[in-house]
This record gives sequence, C-alpha cells and structure tokens, in this order.
Amino acid sequence: MTPVTTIERLMTLPSDQDISGRTFGDEEIAYVTEALRSGTLTTTKGKFGKQLESAFAAKLGAAYAYACTSGSAAIHIAVAAINPNPGDEIITTSITDMGALTPLLYRGVIPVFAEVDPKTLNVTADTIREKLSERTKAIIVTHLFGNPCEMDAIMELANERGIPVIEDSAQTFLAEYGDNYAGTVGHIGCFSLQQGKHMTTGEGGMVVTNDEALARRMFLYINKAWGYGDPNPDHYFMALNYRMSELQAAVALAQLEKLENTVAARQKTAAMLTELLHGIDGIETPVISDKATHVYWKYCLNVDDTKIEGGSVGMANLLKEKNIFSAPRYIVKPAFMCLVFQEQNTLGDSRFPFNLAREGAVDYSMENYPLTAKALHDILVLPWNEKYTEEHVRYIAENVRIAASTLRKN
Ligand SMILES: *Cc1c(COP(=O)(O)O)cnc(C)c1O
Repeated sequence: MTPVTTIERLMTLPSDQDISGRTFGDEEIAYVTEALRSGTLTTTKGKFGKQLESAFAAKLGAAYAYACTSGSAAIHIAVAAINPNPGDEIITTSITDMGALTPLLYRGVIPVFAEVDPKTLNVTADTIREKLSERTKAIIVTHLFGNPCEMDAIMELANERGIPVIEDSAQTFLAEYGDNYAGTVGHIGCFSLQQGKHMTTGEGGMVVTNDEALARRMFLYINKAWGYGDPNPDHYFMALNYRMSELQAAVALAQLEKLENTVAARQKTAAMLTELLHGIDGIETPVISDKATHVYWKYCLNVDDTKIEGGSVGMANLLKEKNIFSAPRYIVKPAFMCLVFQEQNTLGDSRFPFNLAREGAVDYSMENYPLTAKALHDILVLPWNEKYTEEHVRYIAENVRIAASTLRKN
C-alpha cells in the first residue's frame, strides 16, 4: 500500500520524563507549598498522606489504601502481608519490572514464572495453573501496559485453591475490569507513582485492599510494625520504614485529582491510533478483554516478521529516523534471564532463597518459555502519555504505515 501523504517534517513527541508529557501545574505547587509552610513533612503527623490514602481508596472503590515509597515497596508490603515462609513459592509473570521480583527474594520466596499470552503479554489462568504446586502461597499478576489480565478465570482458579492474588497495577490506573477497577479485583492491588506512571510524585507507591486483616498487616509493614494508636503499642514483627513523605503525598494528591482526565486523554488518542492503523497487514493493535478497558500506559503493536522485514526491530529503526523512539522487544529478555536470577546473586554467597527451592521450581531458562520468547520477539512498545494530541497521533500513524510498506515482504 502506498501512503497518501509523506510527512517530511520531524515532530518531537511529548515525553513523560519531563513537563512536555506530564500534568504538573499550580495545583501541585499549591499543595506542596501548603505542606512546607505547615512545617510537618512526615505523613504520620501531616494531612496530605491521610488525604491521599482516603481519596485513592475512594477513587478505586477499595476499603483501604496506604501510601508508600515505590511500586517495589508496594509489592514488598503486599508479600509481607501474606507472610510466606522461606522456600515458599509465588507465581508471577515472566515479563515484568524487576521491582516486582526482588521483594520476593527479600522475603525468602521462590519466584515461579508463568508464561504469557503472546498477544497481550499478560499471564492467564491456564499459564498460572501449570505452575501451581503445594508450596504456592500467592499469585502476582501484572496488568501490563495498562491492559488488564483476564481476571475472572484467574480469580476462579485462585479461589478454588484458596490462594491470594496480588495485582501489580503499577502500569494500570483506573482500568475497568467488569464492575471493578484493576487492582481491586484480587486481594491486594499495588501501584507505582514513579516518574513515568499515570500519576506520579517522582518516586512513590500505593497499596489497596478490601480485606481488613491484610490492611492491618500492610499498614504495620510500612511503619516498622509499630502499632500506632494501639493501647500498648510495640514493634510487633520485622518490618521497614516504607512511608511516603508529605511533600510526595501533596504532589500525589493533586495528581490523583487529575487522574480521570489523564486516563481519558490517553484512551482518546490511543483509540484514534487504533483506528488509523486499521488494516495494515502484519501489524496488530492491542487485544483487550471484552470485560476490560485499556488505559494505555504504553501503546503496543505486535509486528509479524513473516510479513514485515526485520519485524519489530526493523520497524523501530525506521521510526527512530522520524524521531519516534519505540522499544522493540520491550525488556528484550525476561526478568529471570537477568544476572540476579542466573547467578543467584542475593545475600552473601548463600544463594538464599534459591538454596531452599523445591526440585524443579527454578526453571529459569529460555527453552522453558517459548510463549514469552514469541511475545517479546513481536512486540513494539510505543511510548504514550496524556499530552499526545491528534497531530502527534496522525504523525505516528503515518510513519508506522510508511515503515510497514517500506519493509513489506512480498
Ligand atoms: C514501575 C513498575 C514497578 C516498580 O515500581 P517502582 O516505583 O519503580 O519501584 C513494578 N511493577 C511494574 C509492572 C512496574 O511497571
């Protein structure tokens, strides 16, 4: 197919790494100023941390929400609430951020990696089922790129076995799944407020739950397990200080007030791109569950290299010449191929917790993960944010179309 027009001019897309792609404004400045002027910067005493927590819980329709220092901390807190024994297993996904995995190792847990659906890069009930064992203590699902996992089947499987589900929703704010938001379907939801996420305070995180006992343990784990407000408080168990500061909470509260608009803006421009890319043979736009909405942390294409020369890498190279900086193959290799897992570099030379692993639990080799390999091979991740305009989207679509026709195999 020959393109209708050719855009010669190079456009610079808004970036979530600076103000061009972020929504900070007078609202954040007013709250931060108020926090500073109050002289109280700890959330144990200030108002912004508490306001953020109650507003976040209300927005998501969760009973409890707690602020913490990062998405990695949120995962650590969630796992600590479940309180596995060293050598226990948690099933997670082969394609996720390292911040969702090292907390497991700190808790003595063996990460058991489930395969992903090559179209969505998400785990499914079927890929999780294959990895269940008598030592499975929890399941962590990652809603990758803003696209929720198929939770009904996953919850059915987990409930059947009595295993709690942690949702890593770091990339997925206000995505609907059935009547709920992603992050509130399972037992605990974890969010990241890192620079590039839907709402941000540079670094930060949130945990949510509807379960009172899990909420209590998460609150304590954030607070060195000190029983604030109890008649005879003590440090009840081993825990860290994972508290957010009032300065961060002030920014996060202002960001939360903009979250619906942020998500709607991303969805609007993403829908436009999907429409503009319709019908390009060899390029597939996001596949979304009919129970879910996608909130487009990133916009992903699957590129078929039997039809497009060089596949996702070929596409990325041509797009780069047009100032469109995509990530072909996303993280390139699954997390379990990183040195921390391959060399078991953990505490001293103990190899803890891998030294406690059940025979067969550690299968960290590419040959065991053909679907993951396929998923990463085909994926082209386009950065996305709420400042994209129709003009930006037309520019991307036009150049994807041109690249696809340039690389077309006959
Ligand atoms: C960003 C991210 C994390 C880690 O969050 P940090 O705030 O960077 O610690 C965890 N899981 C996923 C899926 C992420 O995208």
